[in-house]
Amino acid sequence: MSQDRAEREAPYLLAASRKPTGPTATGRCLYCDEIVADDQRWCDTACRDGWVRESRLRGGVR
Ligand SMILES: [Zn+2]
Repeated sequence: MSQDRAEREAPYLLAASRKPTGPTATGRCLYCDEIVADDQRWCDTACRDGWVRESRLRGGVR
């Protein structure tokens, strides 16, 4: 079962890094609130990864 779950989550992580699904870009990093480019949602991949992890913990992203 855990194998199955890992396979389902991997595509989501890829999609989160490329497609603007879910949260809208606000000009600020969604994770640390740093000002970023208007079309960016995080300053870097570290912030994105942290945000993704927190979202999952909150249950907002499946
Ligand atoms: Zn950030």
